[in-house]
Amino acid sequence: MTTEQPKELTFDTLVSLSKRRGFIFPSSEVYGGIAGFWDYGPLGVEMKNNIKREWWRFMVQERDDVVGIDASVIMNPKVWEASGHVATFTDPMVDCKNCKRRYRADHLESEVCPDCGAKGQFTEARNFNLMFKTFVGPVEDDANVVYLRPETAQAMFVNFDNVVTSMRRKLPFGIAQIGRSFRNEITPGNFIFRDREFEQMEMEYFCKPGTDEQWHKHWLDARLNWHKNLGVREENLRIREHEQEELSHYSKGTYDIEYRFDAMGWSELEGIANRTDFDLQAHGKGSGKSLSYFDEESNEHIVPYVIEPALGVDRCFLVMLYDAYREQEVPTAAGKTEQRVYLQLHPAIAPIKVAVLPLSRNEKLGPLSKDVHALLRPHFMTQFDDAQSIGRRYRRQDEIGTPLCVTIDFDSLEDNAVTIRDRDTMEQTRVRIEELVDTLRRKLQGG
Ligand code: ATP
Repeated sequence: MTTEQPKELTFDTLVSLSKRRGFIFPSSEVYGGIAGFWDYGPLGVEMKNNIKREWWRFMVQERDDVVGIDASVIMNPKVWEASGHVATFTDPMVDCKNCKRRYRADHLESEVCPDCGAKGQFTEARNFNLMFKTFVGPVEDDANVVYLRPETAQAMFVNFDNVVTSMRRKLPFGIAQIGRSFRNEITPGNFIFRDREFEQMEMEYFCKPGTDEQWHKHWLDARLNWHKNLGVREENLRIREHEQEELSHYSKGTYDIEYRFDAMGWSELEGIANRTDFDLQAHGKGSGKSLSYFDEESNEHIVPYVIEPALGVDRCFLVMLYDAYREQEVPTAAGKTEQRVYLQLHPAIAPIKVAVLPLSRNEKLGPLSKDVHALLRPHFMTQFDDAQSIGRRYRRQDEIGTPLCVTIDFDSLEDNAVTIRDRDTMEQTRVRIEELVDTLRRKLQGG
């Protein structure tokens, strides 16, 4: 049986699958949508929560040197002045004089407008600040301007002292956070790759200056392995070091983990930056309160260096969906072949782990099927489906990436056993109901 990725997997294929199956919908779609904003549907929210849970497990739960926080989206605007975002969180923007479309200058490949084809009609590049502004309180004037955070990281820096003191932390240690970020991107697009509202999973790892490069390497390896262990194929991942002129204003060195999309080539999935002591120094200066650490070994105050792995939840979601998409020719009962689409999602990421499918809607199967469902739902995210033929229901579960289906048939009424069907191999095994929970758990864990 051959398993192939279609030759050119387009984002349109995923947009349409996502909408049809309830992963992702365009935001406010009844009003024509709004560029750069998306809503996660019933399956999307499950998958997104799974991604966040796996990140948190790996970055916080399984480490004794990292703790988490959950900070407010709107912060004192002085944070963004001190961090350099008010002055420098900009992208170069150009307009096409012919069709008036706007572009990010650094994303254009030539002098030709991708929209109208006019040559040499771009304006000079101007810097455009990506932070969304709003007002706090009832008066809309300059004194009340605040920003929606464009990254979660700053909350970790300004809470450095609070965490060190309350949690009795010693270097090296990290502070992690998952939360919403907002960027008024000039050209959002490529489905959920570049949004204007998105979620980030970031961790600031504070270490002694001089140990920063060793920790940078540690986190680069750890993060790359995380993606691989959750099923993203190795050949579609690579590491790219930023050129000197690409580096953000705070960075001494940055590596991107990139993913290879057919639709747009190698693209940034996650950034792992060495932010040095830039942010703690800047907030020390900006707030007048020194953000340093007293090192008992050397008996002196030091300002730690920071290694930051920063990953977008939505971008990670897109990569996992994209990488999991499979099309396959399979034989039908009538001796022909048909196409099967399935998502080979890692079981930890799949929105539904187990589908419970009575062979038919026959009333004799109803009570036992309901009992089996009730047995499973405290343990796994499940779906019960008794509409249409069993073949169609398998296809539906394949298309949403459900790793295992449990089928109850007429023999089940006699032998108290059911069939487990595997998404990837389509193999079926018969299992006694009393062993079902353990068997499913073992299979989901790769046993
Ligand atoms: P780009 O160069 O693509 O604009 P960036 O280098 O500015 O991205 P970072 O500031 O390093 O991105 O953000 C860290 C991570 O947050 C990115 O690797 C990406 O996964 C995610 N991210 C950043 N911007 C967006 C966005 N507009 N939409 C979705 N995810 C984003």
